[in-house]
Amino acid sequence: MDLIPHFIDGQDTGSRDGARFSTVDPFTQRPWAEVALGGEEEAGLAVAAARRAFDEGPWPRMGHTERGEILHRLADLIEANLDELALADTTDMGKPIADTRGKDVPRSAYNFRFFADHARLSPAEALPMDGGHHAYTRYEPAGVVAAIAPWNFPLMLETWKVAPALAWGNTVVLKPAEQTPASASLLARLALEAGMPPGVLNVVHGYGPGSAGEALTRDPRVDRITFTGESGTGRAIAAAAAANLTPVSFELGGKGANLVFADADLDAAVSWSIKAIFSNAGQVCLAGSRLFVQREVYDEFLERFITAAEALRPGDPKDPGTQLGPLSSAEHHAKVTAYLDTVPADGGKIVTGGAGPEGLFVRPTVVLDAPPTARVCREEIFGPVAVVTPFDTESEAVARANDTPYGLNAMVFTENLSRAHRVSAALKAGTVWTNCFFVRDLRAPFGGVGDSGIGREGGTFSREFFTEPKAVVMALTPTP
Ligand code: NAD
Repeated sequence: MDLIPHFIDGQDTGSRDGARFSTVDPFTQRPWAEVALGGEEEAGLAVAAARRAFDEGPWPRMGHTERGEILHRLADLIEANLDELALADTTDMGKPIADTRGKDVPRSAYNFRFFADHARLSPAEALPMDGGHHAYTRYEPAGVVAAIAPWNFPLMLETWKVAPALAWGNTVVLKPAEQTPASASLLARLALEAGMPPGVLNVVHGYGPGSAGEALTRDPRVDRITFTGESGTGRAIAAAAAANLTPVSFELGGKGANLVFADADLDAAVSWSIKAIFSNAGQVCLAGSRLFVQREVYDEFLERFITAAEALRPGDPKDPGTQLGPLSSAEHHAKVTAYLDTVPADGGKIVTGGAGPEGLFVRPTVVLDAPPTARVCREEIFGPVAVVTPFDTESEAVARANDTPYGLNAMVFTENLSRAHRVSAALKAGTVWTNCFFVRDLRAPFGGVGDSGIGREGGTFSREFFTEPKAVVMALTPTP
């Protein structure tokens, strides 16, 4: 079986003690590769390499144009290796190949193109001051960035962190999720091929607590921690980072509300709502898992929604026609199905879906009549489970939507312009999509309110996090 190595200081590297773990294809439920298992030692070596590359190497000292050319070459290489990268993520986590080939890998290349250009073209403030002075801002690279990623959009979310960090002149240690190690090691090799100096992008594999992940968060040589994952993990990382006062940026869990008003275009609302909760088998932080539908259109919406949900094609994720893959691991499948088991006791009912048709699959599932206190209404399931609830008034819908500790995103479907703006403003969320879902402009702030995160990334928001802005104040005329 192949070995997926760490990538440290420009080299494929095993673990010192030879430790390994297996990565399992959730469709076949068989291990498909062995992975170097890193701990404190490997994380430390990767941080040391990144530190050297930052303190002594050319990367932070290059101009944006030169760095940008290397990042664009990396994007070219990602596109040239589309098939291999897409297959790596699909095999690791069971996401349909149509999504990894058609969306995730192209977006990963675009992440590098966007942030390379954004860094090169970003203006910095110049502030004319009274009294013969002026001030200006320098955005200097922050240093060594630890990027800790989840498994649900492996390469796409890793590059969402790595691209702005590199574009602003930092060096990086990336720890991919243990479930999805393969594409990260490929990416690091491509970066070297694109001309990135050794040590600028390092990858270390392993678990979180007591393993490579935790070691990165405790290392005082790390200057920034960018993390995407569960809110509970965010709490653990915040506590570890506090010891060194390391700044953190967290993109955490969600329990997205999706509000369908009676004046919505119902065809569009059904189609977007299906995508919002069932794409990637619901393993999406932004999933519209709480669906609130105005009573006048509730029955019609529900009928169409259930019909569309039942029409989604499960199958082998490597088959280009598959729309619904298995869940990412046996452990995650057990977690999602355990939530389904709580539905009757909590007062709800499942009208379609449930575990199956085989292996680690869960069918698109629709839960009705669940009270706001039900676990499926309050906790992030991270599976293909929509809880649908009727509402009567706009204020009731907003109150129900905001009744959650999370606040990553929400969706609003209405043809009433005033309502669209009013409700978007009233929702407690980092992103509100009106009459759409998942449409991104990488200049926009991305992040969450409450338990859904700390800080924002994207465009200038990424610049704020990955740089140390410095104010330079100059006297224009000699002063005593
Ligand atoms: P997770 O928190 O279990 O793991 C994420 C990463 O953190 C993994 O690499 C893991 O090894 C590492 N990790 C775990 N414990 C750690 C510790 N104590 N110290 C350092 N590293 C540690 O999350 P997951 O199951 O991989 O991903 C699913 C979660 O991610 C969901 O909650 C989802 O909503 C969230 N998510 C959020 C966004 C967003 O943009 N807000 C995007 C995707 C996923």
